[in-house]
Amino acid sequence: MKAQIKLGRIFGVDIGLHYSWFIIALLITLSLASQFSLTNPDWSDSLRWTLAIITAVLFFGAIVAHELSHALVAKARGLPVRSITLFALGGVAQIEKEAADAKTEFWMGIIGPITSFVIGFVCLAITMALGWRPPEFPQQPLSAMLMWLGYINIALAIFNMIPGFPLDGGRVLRAIAWWITGDAKRATTIAARVGQVIAFGMIVLGVMRFFGGAGFNGLWIAFIGWFLLKAARESHAQVALNEALHGVRVADVMSPDYATVDGHSNLQTFVEEHLVRTGRRCFIVTFNGQAEGMITPNEIKAIQRAQWSYKTVGDVMRPLNQVQKVAPNTPVVEALEVMAREDLNQLAVIRDGQLAGVISRGNVLQLLRTRAELQV
Ligand SMILES: [Zn+2]
Repeated sequence: MKAQIKLGRIFGVDIGLHYSWFIIALLITLSLASQFSLTNPDWSDSLRWTLAIITAVLFFGAIVAHELSHALVAKARGLPVRSITLFALGGVAQIEKEAADAKTEFWMGIIGPITSFVIGFVCLAITMALGWRPPEFPQQPLSAMLMWLGYINIALAIFNMIPGFPLDGGRVLRAIAWWITGDAKRATTIAARVGQVIAFGMIVLGVMRFFGGAGFNGLWIAFIGWFLLKAARESHAQVALNEALHGVRVADVMSPDYATVDGHSNLQTFVEEHLVRTGRRCFIVTFNGQAEGMITPNEIKAIQRAQWSYKTVGDVMRPLNQVQKVAPNTPVVEALEVMAREDLNQLAVIRDGQLAGVISRGNVLQLLRTRAELQV
């Protein structure tokens, strides 16, 4: 999930919005406004809408606080955090590494629901101090706003504690299973299975309620179940991949025998005779036998086709000092993260300032395929 609108930086973490966030912000504002018209019929339209908007904004502030709490625990435990993105289904903190031990995983997971619960509890406590007595609806604008924020945050805390991966509750469950079994891989499988069972349960329950007359509420539960099922599969696959590649270094899978092309070659000839004929995506560009740059279909696509016959490979190559590099002893998982982040298919492997090889997504895929074939 990449943020498309940057909001700013808190504690060194970038906060951003994904476009899909606007849909949910609008839905929440609309439903708050219609709630207020039921519970506070004396209010004017402008008061109702103003308060709905302020409440929605504060709610998203509370989601940022929730994600920030995950991020701060991760940072305190030495895991780098890149950013927090708000999107249609809430927020997500991009933590660049998986927790290395069960305890870190546990605290990283549980701190979010604790934060939301505390925010909710404080909001409700202030509302009561202002004279609110449940189950009445407060008629004071400030009290009404705080009461909704209180309920929403507590609901958020409870929802996040559903023990389905990748929800916080799933992480907590995984941490506990990890701690008991001492086996991260098994813990992942257990947490993913429990998550799938719960997600299926929600889909079945939602559909049953829908046909039982619950209408939109039933569909909503089914939709969340479907989302959880999808997310459980994806994050299980991600964790399984990290585990499969645990201990594998760039030097193990890189191709040391990279293809080269002379920098003086004509671009058109290079495309026709090398690129489309061999199917290789990445060539190292040499001048007098010295590696100076890299060329891939990406660099060539940036040049108009009509210009190809007037350019040399050296003209369009990406010089080695501008190419993303990794060291041979970098873990493959990290190299994959760099490729995903920079949207690249390959990285140059540099040893002592010299090009030692090229690592591509294809190299990693091949390794995984071979292992799957032999079931090791
Ligand atoms: Zn969370």
